[in-house]
Amino acid sequence: MKQKITAGELMKLTRHFEPAELNQADIEALGGPEAAGRAKALLDRIEPTLPECPFCGAPGQIVGTVQMCRPCVRVKCSECGCGTYLFFTGVDAFTKKEVSLEKAAGQAVDRWSRRKEKRPEAHHPTTDGHNEPTTPE
Ligand SMILES: [Zn+2]
Repeated sequence: MKQKITAGELMKLTRHFEPAELNQADIEALGGPEAAGRAKALLDRIEPTLPECPFCGAPGQIVGTVQMCRPCVRVKCSECGCGTYLFFTGVDAFTKKEVSLEKAAGQAVDRWSRRKEKRPEAHHPTTDGHNEPTTPE
């Protein structure tokens, strides 16, 4: 009944899933080896389209993981570690609607991309070197 997955296949699957070791329960949470492969392929397709990190300019990474038996995704910076929170698949607690991995990934990408677009122009009036310390009387 249970489909076995080889170590080699596991390595291929884990590129977009952290922690690096997906266990058998994680594979099952993803819907089996085939579905896990599709999930990885989806993230493989998305990753090159991600905008760079708004803080350090490094490439963005989309990562998948399984938390509480539910596959979830987030986008993070490959260098400085900033990123979105996790977007879960499964039934949304508030809307009661099913969230697919594709949809969760889309939400993570939207959040990551929006952050970049909304970055305000740098405006620091105190960078002229004349900051006056406030002194008590
Ligand atoms: Zn960064």
